[in-house]
Amino acid sequence: MNKENDEKLVKAFPLLYGDRYGSEQSTAMCWGFPGDGWFDIIWDLSSKLEPIIRKFIADNPNLECSTCGCERTKHYASATDSPGKCLSIHIDPYSEEEAPANYRACFCDTYAGMYPKAFQVKEKFGGLKFYMTTYSDEIRNLIDKTQALSLKTCEECGKPGEKTNTGWIRTLCKNCDENWVEIRANNHKKALEYEQQRRDALLPE
Ligand SMILES: [Zn+2]
Ligand SMILES: [Zn+2]
Ligand SMILES: [Zn+2]
Repeated sequence: MNKENDEKLVKAFPLLYGDRYGSEQSTAMCWGFPGDGWFDIIWDLSSKLEPIIRKFIADNPNLECSTCGCERTKHYASATDSPGKCLSIHIDPYSEEEAPANYRACFCDTYAGMYPKAFQVKEKFGGLKFYMTTYSDEIRNLIDKTQALSLKTCEECGKPGEKTNTGWIRTLCKNCDENWVEIRANNHKKALEYEQQRRDALLPE
């Protein structure tokens, strides 16, 4: 998916895509989103998932922190919108010292509630695969519907499409299927240009 569409999704659905810029070790969201043709169906799904997550957080005010595992109330200023450092004292299970020498403070800096988030959004065998960190029946149903819809939606342009085999199974409309080589080359070029821009932006002045 191109950078503009990618950023639009992350900006509009900050809870769902809270891990978009997370590390490779913690999430597969760092790989971004699949084809631009699926932007609309991913947007539609996201606009239904975001309020479900918001409600989940409101209903579960003391969720464990996904970084340190302690409850929200153990984090300093837990009642505010931006809880800070964790103030828990744990017993270190690996310590051979007697109490209190076997106690250790939790050094978690910021609270990150363990609520459902997107874990990976990708294309596989021509279909959209949308994975969450955790599910409810409601979330799973919405995702199932969207995944089914992706099999009838051109992943390149969003028009009605079907499974094709361009050396790789994809869902494409007739036009994108016929011009696939050119489209792929063009996408590749755009991705390289974006990479170059990003590198340039990182260079020191
Ligand atoms: Zn924490
Ligand atoms: Zn903690
Ligand atoms: Zn198409």
